[in-house]
Amino acid sequence: MKYCSTRGGVADLSFVDALLMGLAPDGGLLVPAELPDVTSKLDQWRGLDFISLAQAVIALFVDDIDRPTLDKLIAEAYETFEHPDVIGWQQLDDVDVMELYHGPTLAFKDVALQLLGRLFEHVLGERQQHLNILGATSGDTGGAAIAGVRGQDNIDIFILFPEGKVSPLQELQMTTVADANVHCVAVQGSFDDCQSLMKEIFADLEFKAEFQLGAVNSVNWARVMAQIVYYGYASLRYERAPAFCVPTGNFGNVFAAFLAKEMGFPIDRLLVATNENDILARFFATGEYARGDVHFTLSPAMDIQVASNFERFLYYYFDKDTARLKEFMHAFSSRGHASLDGPPDARFMQATAVTTEQTLTAVKDVHEQFNYVLDPHTAVGYAAAQVFKRNVDAPLVCVATAHPAKFPDAVKQAAANAPANHPALDALVGLPARKEVIPATVEAVKKVIIEHARGFSA
Ligand SMILES: *Cc1c(COP(=O)(O)O)cnc(C)c1O
Repeated sequence: MKYCSTRGGVADLSFVDALLMGLAPDGGLLVPAELPDVTSKLDQWRGLDFISLAQAVIALFVDDIDRPTLDKLIAEAYETFEHPDVIGWQQLDDVDVMELYHGPTLAFKDVALQLLGRLFEHVLGERQQHLNILGATSGDTGGAAIAGVRGQDNIDIFILFPEGKVSPLQELQMTTVADANVHCVAVQGSFDDCQSLMKEIFADLEFKAEFQLGAVNSVNWARVMAQIVYYGYASLRYERAPAFCVPTGNFGNVFAAFLAKEMGFPIDRLLVATNENDILARFFATGEYARGDVHFTLSPAMDIQVASNFERFLYYYFDKDTARLKEFMHAFSSRGHASLDGPPDARFMQATAVTTEQTLTAVKDVHEQFNYVLDPHTAVGYAAAQVFKRNVDAPLVCVATAHPAKFPDAVKQAAANAPANHPALDALVGLPARKEVIPATVEAVKKVIIEHARGFSA
């Protein structure tokens, strides 16, 4: 499989090159040159366990790591999950919940990042290279990325997060990791600021090359690839093609579902659930992609206005017309908005925005009716599923993206007696923590990298 940039400036990369590159130098995102068609394989894939299906699906995208090694990396990545089949299920009346949060940091991001960390370790070991990973997080990515690479000799990881705006437990999941290759950087600004700082630094190609910077944010193709697996896996459990309702922020998770559908997995439709940061909901209703102000909500991992993976979706929506895509993205970055001629075709996706009140009600209702606790992100998905279900004649799956114990304050606000604990999190309280607080400037971030990056002979 070869990879190219959504903006047409890079082509013919191997998987490993795409893995190490992260963002393309032309500002685009890497995508496979062709999507594999899996329709002829579905019969033989039904009944595989999660790890076996992951090995079969991922091998379609990776032809420059030998198959036994790839299989081993995949198996090791998913053996860290506490659920025997990696993902869990809960049936709630007419909505099924697909639990993706049984990994080491209790968020769905572990599914991709446990694998990504192992892929990096293998590839860097082979090439005898060192990598400095730079990532931005609104909470969950940072912890999951750190858990994926902590203690590795050939990687340093620098995680930017908005000071004071990630939940205390999420902060502890990052700052209590004692490994010397982990550098937590609290930026005095918003998550969007962190994301722009990261993009600016990656756009400085000289700095990027000098410090061998790599990305673990959802711009990294390998993350999307790993996430395709669970949509395929879930789709094969049903007799009729299911619809997925996905709590969405950076659009990486639901974009993986879109690819799974394009590849031929039996998926009825995709429903995008946003919180009050509704840029995507507005886009799917009107065709206008327009930046708004960031609202801080109970689902901070979705407090995002500019969704980095959206560009990949547009690339397919524009039939891989890179010129049209570039025009759209340039209009958006210079004016803060860009439009299609009208609303996108609803067969691609539909979207709805959910308020804080609806989110709280969803947590409370589900706890009362089913004695089951939703985290606030999953609750956004569940509340949206209640809106969509009137028009969907297919099994409806709500994607659970985090364990409720990661967001105890929001859970308690909705339902005071709902349990929101997990032993892995309880164990973090009181451990020594480390972070560096910096202003939201490119210079300040670069200074941290220059000071701490290892593996460079001065
Ligand atoms: C990251 C995250 C999301 C949003 O996922 P995207 O791929 O960015 O759309 C939703 N919920 C939780 C708990 C997350 O950590």
